[in-house]
Amino acid sequence: MDEELTVESRIAPPALTCPKCNGLLPSKLGIVECELCSASVRVDHEPTRTKWLKERISCPSCSKVLIAGVDQRPAQLRCADCDAQFTLAAKVVRVEIECPICHRGLRMKQRPGQRTIDCPACDSAFKVSF
Ligand SMILES: [Zn+2]
Ligand SMILES: [Zn+2]
Ligand SMILES: [Zn+2]
Repeated sequence: MDEELTVESRIAPPALTCPKCNGLLPSKLGIVECELCSASVRVDHEPTRTKWLKERISCPSCSKVLIAGVDQRPAQLRCADCDAQFTLAAKVVRVEIECPICHRGLRMKQRPGQRTIDCPACDSAFKVSF
């Protein structure tokens, strides 16, 4: 049986915009494809790589704290203690927005492009774009 163990990284690269269309780029480093205009953009951020390398995470199997030791996300890791293999996934960037109708703060995953949001508080639908 293949158990899928995943730990979410706590470090995300800075939010960058596409030099072509000015839209939000996916939260990655390396060659990133803009989801809005399909441009390939090379993004790198040394401080993020360094933090990724040194990030402390706990093993999802035995809870022992490990140092990631890899400067990319996602990454496949193996716990030296219990031998469990797991994926260190990219951090999911969440943003706080305000419903324009009832002004309630909503937290959501930040994704490039425009989306329609249904406010859980007042049931209004509104559009957001990043
Ligand atoms: Zn673009
Ligand atoms: Zn372990
Ligand atoms: Zn609302």
